[in-house]
Amino acid sequence: MKKRILAYGRLNDDQLAQLGQDFEVQAFPGLASADDPAFRAALSDAHGLIGASLAITPELLDAAPKLEAIATISVGYDNYPVEALTRRGILLCNTPDVLTETTADTGFLLIMAAARRAVELAEMVKRGDWQAGIGPEHFGSDVHGKTLGLIGFGRIGAAVARRGALGFGMKVRYAMASPKPLLEAELGAERRELDELLEESDFVCVTVPLTAETEHLIGEREFALMKPSAIFVNIARGKVVNEAALIEALEMGRIRAAGLDVFEQEPLSPESPLPHMTNVVALPHIGSATHETRTAMAQRAVDNLLLALRGEHPINLVNETARRPA
Ligand code: NAP
Repeated sequence: MKKRILAYGRLNDDQLAQLGQDFEVQAFPGLASADDPAFRAALSDAHGLIGASLAITPELLDAAPKLEAIATISVGYDNYPVEALTRRGILLCNTPDVLTETTADTGFLLIMAAARRAVELAEMVKRGDWQAGIGPEHFGSDVHGKTLGLIGFGRIGAAVARRGALGFGMKVRYAMASPKPLLEAELGAERRELDELLEESDFVCVTVPLTAETEHLIGEREFALMKPSAIFVNIARGKVVNEAALIEALEMGRIRAAGLDVFEQEPLSPESPLPHMTNVVALPHIGSATHETRTAMAQRAVDNLLLALRGEHPINLVNETARRPA
């Protein structure tokens, strides 16, 4: 009997056909919750899962006794209980690298848009309120030549830093990462303690993964250390930031503006003040959301799952120790 795959992410017809060559595929397009009764029922016979944006709990794994591998269509894997998966010998594969540049583009889009007040002023034009030449009350701040502080300096952090250093002549500082001598040489980047970076940077950009150690890493104390002119950008995960503290810092003018792709609760609650604040640029978690990159991510996830279910080493394996001896 063929092994079964439950596909709950966006895969194109070619990708579904690739999975279907050797495996039986059951698609759950638009699945909103892993608690969906049909999905839960299908889990009992599933050997592989492929998708994104669903929280997979250890309790859910109890309903999937045959599960061998999960391919998430994302680089972040905070939605998965890695230890529980490893204990059960279930491989977890992700999609690093193929989304790095596009997510860094989104980071820079937020840096630029927040600094130059692009959304606020475009809205003004749309409303027909552009009545005279723009005065100082609508001026933004320069990006070029400023200091860019990266919290986390991995693939995406480095790609944002490259844009800043090489494209905009920015000084790069980084924290919450091991020393990176090659990037220091390439970009003139300097490593700092987190507090120093917060005090020194004109732009603070979060690129750490969400883990137990990074949850609410940035809160009231950290916003108080930033310059009143600082612009805060989060392209990592909403829960790395205490959102109530961020809202207060923006309301009280402790920082100047924020560019946000991610939020503690997604989709953002209609009650959230963030999208209504003129000094906030809020995007609906579109870090990697281009046609090219989402297709590449889905393809990487398909390749990973096919390799894992065939007993070969996937291209990207999060939990190496879950591999069963051949
Ligand atoms: P990465 O290459 O693994 O880089 C992570 C960086 O964070 C590294 O510099 C790492 O330090 C540092 N770090 C600090 N504390 C850490 C901890 N407790 N655990 C692990 N790393 C820690 O990851 P990436 O590819 O740049 O992606 C970063 C995150 O961006 C993802 O996890 C994801 O949540 C988020 N993301 C968001 C979007 C979006 O749509 N907005 C898209 C893609 C990714 P070292 O250098 O010492 O390893």
